[in-house]
Amino acid sequence: MTQTREIIQLGNPILRSPALPVENPLSEPIQTLIDDLITTGVAANGVGIAAPQVAQSYCLVVIASRPTLRYPHAPFMEPTPMLNPQIISHSSEVVKGWEGCLSVPGIRGLVPRYQAIEVEYTDRFGQRKRQELTDFVARIFQHEYDHLSGKVFLDRVETTLDLITEQEYQKQLIA
Ligand code: ZN
Repeated sequence: MTQTREIIQLGNPILRSPALPVENPLSEPIQTLIDDLITTGVAANGVGIAAPQVAQSYCLVVIASRPTLRYPHAPFMEPTPMLNPQIISHSSEVVKGWEGCLSVPGIRGLVPRYQAIEVEYTDRFGQRKRQELTDFVARIFQHEYDHLSGKVFLDRVETTLDLITEQEYQKQLIA
């Protein structure tokens, strides 16, 4: 039985702490955490979530891309758990795009990210995988990956002028 866990918010020191590697991906607590992260992310209408956001300081993220108003061509993917993820290589091209965060409600920021990355991670069955991610999915990954080292998207904006409220973001989306 999976459950929705509380999403901690900016100010909670766990969000600023480096996460620990997952030693045993197949263990019951980790499998339960994976299921709960998926449930929690879906319930919050997010496109990604990292374990530290539910106060579990493990190197574990869930990527769940789907088309949004800003990214209408984003692929729809089943929520994909990635354990002990790493960025192996990245494009030289950097693109800016709007991001929000379930742990930073009410704020959006224009964040530069690599357009393409090659990543490695362990899947929930313990298999090491290598994959190339581009555009929106690469952005989600880089956002969630930052949570594992205690960073949030606010740290990545080039200027505080690139921060706007959710309300203003929605207005500009319609305009
Ligand atoms: Zn986030």
